[in-house]
Amino acid sequence: MKSQARVVVIGGGVVGASVLYHLTKLGWPDVVLVEKHELTAGSTWHAAAGVHTYNSDANVSRLQKYTIDLYREIEKSSGQSCGIHATGNLVLAATPEVLDNLKLMHSRAKYLGMETHLITPAEAHKLNPLFDPKCFVGALHRADGGHVDPNGVTHAYTGAARKVGAEVYRHTRVTGLSPRRDGGWLVQTDKGDITCEHVVNAGGLWAREIGRMAGIELPVLAMEHMYIVTEPIPEVAALARELLPTTDYFGEIYMRQEGQGALLGTYERDCRIWSPDTAPWDFNMQLLPDDLERLAPHLELGFKHFPPIGRAGIKKVVNGPFTFAPDGNPLVGPVRGLRNFWSACGVMAGFAQGGGVGLALARWMAEGDPGADVFAMDVARFGAFATHPYTLIKVPENYSRRFRIAYPNEELAAARPLRRTPVYDRLKSAGAVFGASFGLEVALWYAPDGMEPVEEPSYRRSNAFPIVREECLAVRHSVGIMDISGFGKYEITGKGAAAWLDRVLACRVPKPGRMVLAPMLNERGTIMGDFSLARLADDRFLMIGSGVAEVFHMRWFERLGIPDGVSVRPMASALNGLMIAGPKSRELLQRLTRNDVSNTAFKFFAAREMTVGLVPATVARASYAGDLGYEIWCSPDYQVTLYDALVESGRDLGLCHFGGRALMSLRLEKNYGAFFREFRPDYTPVESGLDRFVAYDKADFVGRAAALRDRAEPPKKKLVAMVVDSDVEVVGYESIMLGPEAVGQVTSGGYAHWAGKSMAMGYVRSDLARDGTELDILIFGEPRRARVQATPLFDANGGRQRR
Ligand SMILES: Cc1cc2nc3c(=O)[nH]c(=O)nc-3n(C[C@H](O)[C@H](O)[C@H](O)COP(=O)(O)OP(=O)(O)OC[C@H]3O[C@@H](n4cnc5c(N)ncnc54)[C@H](O)[C@@H]3O)c2cc1C
Repeated sequence: MKSQARVVVIGGGVVGASVLYHLTKLGWPDVVLVEKHELTAGSTWHAAAGVHTYNSDANVSRLQKYTIDLYREIEKSSGQSCGIHATGNLVLAATPEVLDNLKLMHSRAKYLGMETHLITPAEAHKLNPLFDPKCFVGALHRADGGHVDPNGVTHAYTGAARKVGAEVYRHTRVTGLSPRRDGGWLVQTDKGDITCEHVVNAGGLWAREIGRMAGIELPVLAMEHMYIVTEPIPEVAALARELLPTTDYFGEIYMRQEGQGALLGTYERDCRIWSPDTAPWDFNMQLLPDDLERLAPHLELGFKHFPPIGRAGIKKVVNGPFTFAPDGNPLVGPVRGLRNFWSACGVMAGFAQGGGVGLALARWMAEGDPGADVFAMDVARFGAFATHPYTLIKVPENYSRRFRIAYPNEELAAARPLRRTPVYDRLKSAGAVFGASFGLEVALWYAPDGMEPVEEPSYRRSNAFPIVREECLAVRHSVGIMDISGFGKYEITGKGAAAWLDRVLACRVPKPGRMVLAPMLNERGTIMGDFSLARLADDRFLMIGSGVAEVFHMRWFERLGIPDGVSVRPMASALNGLMIAGPKSRELLQRLTRNDVSNTAFKFFAAREMTVGLVPATVARASYAGDLGYEIWCSPDYQVTLYDALVESGRDLGLCHFGGRALMSLRLEKNYGAFFREFRPDYTPVESGLDRFVAYDKADFVGRAAALRDRAEPPKKKLVAMVVDSDVEVVGYESIMLGPEAVGQVTSGGYAHWAGKSMAMGYVRSDLARDGTELDILIFGEPRRARVQATPLFDANGGRQRR
């Protein structure tokens, strides 16, 4: 065994093997994989190993497609069969709601380059004659996917990696990890120590324990999972070709052919955690006792939907553990606060996602960047709120809902409320319906007296629709108040603060008392952040961005380096905010401050410290609602006092509460983009239109060279806003069509209530990004006419904000 290597990958499951392979592929041959038992000995060996391309995040879907396509390549380079059954697969809809879900998948697939077909139950029945077509109303056929051999795949990855120099040490257990002064790691094993530059935690069932060796608690947990395998089924034996693997969301089951019989699994609601506190090190290639009682309700429905399976005897039951993060997506990337410690765990669909996880992580390590926006699987999407007890509650919630439809307006109940702002009770009394964002309760909308503060989950306009409309109109006509504590906030101070910001941000740093919109780029010249930056004094700044990106952004700042004498402080729990917006917001603010806040004294994009009521606050004249408005920031101990003063003084002005849903509607009719939707590391300033805030003539800033190259070339795609002729709104990632050709993809959308129009934003081929261009958006499978709207529907010249 080597005593030194560039990278030590801990874990020889499908994920660690994929990371090893991808590192060698990118030219890092000095990598070793350490496995405590045999390769696959964790959750990999007993997987059903079904593969498909669908994920609610488009980039994760792309990586799943990459994974599936990769299997032929690793078979070739390793000489090891992956046991590929490239059958494609079926998803069945037993209800109109599930059918909507399938139509959404179909609408997204076109632009992603995936072949799908919406078909009738009778057509689907020809592809899988085991189900009863009478139980279903529709189906989706996906040409990609099928299933593979878990052992073959894992050995194909390691085999290909070994051919170019990687080494694999089996029966070698990592027992400790110590960071070294030079930024590398000392990896202790029961066979000796290895010093290395980088450590990858691909420990699967033991990833949490490996994290603990490095002093962190990863939000990952293993759940028991069962499937049954039947005796031979005559209907299967009679088939001329293999059955299509099939998922039945309503029945919450998946099935595929196994020999002459069937394999059928379920994500049971009455689920079980495996090893809540510590996973046993001596658990190798073992299964857990089965518990058919727990499966019974699902099997009953499954046998009704698939009668021949019900008639066959059960040959065996497989119950094995595998891991999940609280939202079911992987935990990938560099861990903030640890140098050269990389996470590749929490991968619940290792055969569908393992290749993509390996590719993204290897690029991140070798090239400093995963190559695309992978926030949906970034370990940084969880903050300090995602503790071990939180994980113990959220993972079972996610598991038990795995096959239930996730509605875009749905908020999950477990582990809530967790983080609350001081005005939480006040907002609740005002009727707030809350959602959770980065663990914080944020008001989405306010139920009026007499209405239950509950939103019905729906793909269509919900019971909140008319209420949100009223909130939007109240903001546009008088003044609204919103708790904006969920925004991301950073205080940057110190003598070198301005110089540091000048390097990190692509914009010009504002003068004291002023604000700017501040794009932040990576070295590839794509968007890493979209902030507003207020300069409160020569060496003191307040920067506002996306709340869910706090760890993501802090990790980035730290990677770029924060010099001595500069402090960058995340303020999630240290600063609270209230926004007032609408034509009467100035009058309201003026009633509470002795400062002159007239248009001449306190201009658009001014920022100042002032006393509001009794509260020392920082006030920024800006509003994402796209109207006259102010963000008022104070420390948590003052927020209730500030809120009470604003509500009291605003009563006769018609002050209303508005929530996140209204804000998203108001920003749409201003064509404002949102971070991780329109602005994300997939797009450049020119493509997104953020180029107007980039100071290309600055001496230097991170990403400048790439940004200049980007500006010199005509863009291939451009961000546009579109008015859509539809009575149902887009969800996101739908394909934008020009005739039969997919020419773009929706990033977000909704109903613009003041304008009275359904709207969508998205990236389209740049020659189509002209005002008035007529396109179609596939919404739930139907093409709906969409017209490019170059100027905002509300306040096109910005006069209301500036007056
Ligand atoms: C019943 C069942 C059915 C499934 N069906 C599917 C499916 O149809 N499709 C799909 O995509 N996925 C499926 N999965 C999930 C899939 O198995 C996992 O996503 C995948 O195995 C995760 O791989 P991994 O490499 O992350 O973890 P693991 O397979 O757990 O690998 C981790 C490895 O790390 C090693 N290790 C841990 N700690 C140490 C240490 N300290 N030192 C050295 N080595 C260490 C372990 O021995 C282990 O081999 C299923 C899982 C189960 C249980």
